[in-house]
This record gives sequence, structure tokens and C-alpha cells, in this order.
Amino acid sequence: MSASQKITGGCQCGAVRYEIKEFGRATICHCRMCQKAFGGLYAPLVTGLGINWVHREPKYFQSSSKVQRGFCEECGTPLTYDFEGTVAVSIGSLDNPELVTPILQFSADTRVSYVDDISKVPHYVSAKGAPEEDMFSDMISYQHPDHPTENWSVDKLKNKDK
Ligand SMILES: [Zn+2]
Repeated sequence: MSASQKITGGCQCGAVRYEIKEFGRATICHCRMCQKAFGGLYAPLVTGLGINWVHREPKYFQSSSKVQRGFCEECGTPLTYDFEGTVAVSIGSLDNPELVTPILQFSADTRVSYVDDISKVPHYVSAKGAPEEDMFSDMISYQHPDHPTENWSVDKLKNKDK
């Protein structure tokens, strides 16, 4: 990645977008709070140094006396884990989650028992002419694209269909 390339990310609807100057450590947290906050099996997070909010800022839920969690109040995407001013962003909210690799896991004692075996679960590949091909053929995504945009509006996109 060249120095001129910005690290960017944001929520699913595009209301909240961010830029980061530099990454810190990338981790996975298996604690029950992170499972709940992400609605997932664990939380992939990377420290974001010099985070700058573009468009709107997240809304925060104070999940403990030390941590607040930022999310988009429009679409609910989990965005940040803020421990007394040190901000980590959800790796899935990066425009390119491949930019970081987690190097450490926390809270192994509450890890969901089947997490380690997920890579062994069979992959479903839809066959040509399968029913779901029809189901999604005319689907229009309202998700913000994985790059910065000028004047993005999910409402504008929705009204274009009518
Ligand atoms: Zn959003």
C-alpha cells in the first residue's frame, strides 16, 4: 500500500464513513460482550490510529464502565470499540478487510465451541439454473460501495427504482 492510499471504511448504508492514518494491532475477541455487540461469533478489530470521521459520526453505546461501542444509527453496523480513547474499528467495516491480519485472540474461555471448525464446513456453490439464481437476479444492493464516494445517498438509490 502506498503512502498516498487512504485507509477507508464505513457502515453498510454509507451514512458513517471513516479514514484512518495507520493501523495498530489487529485482534479477534471472543468475549460475550463482543459476540453480542457484533451479533457474530466473535469481534475482529484493528486499532485505528488517527481516525477521521467522514459524513456522520457513529452513535455510541456504553457497554461497560471502560468501553463504548460505536455503530451506525441508520443501519446498525458495528463500527468501533473505544477503550478510554483508544479506538479500534471492526475489520469487516474496512473497505478492504484484507489490509490487516489478526495476530492475537482474546477471551478464549468464551469462544463458541464450533468456531475453530468453521473452515471445515462444506462450501455451497450454487449450480447454474438453481432456484436462488432467479431469486437474486433482479436484486439491487443498497450497500455503500467499498470505496469513498461523492454525494452518496442510499435514499436516492432507492427512489431511482420507483
Ligand atoms: Zn449506516
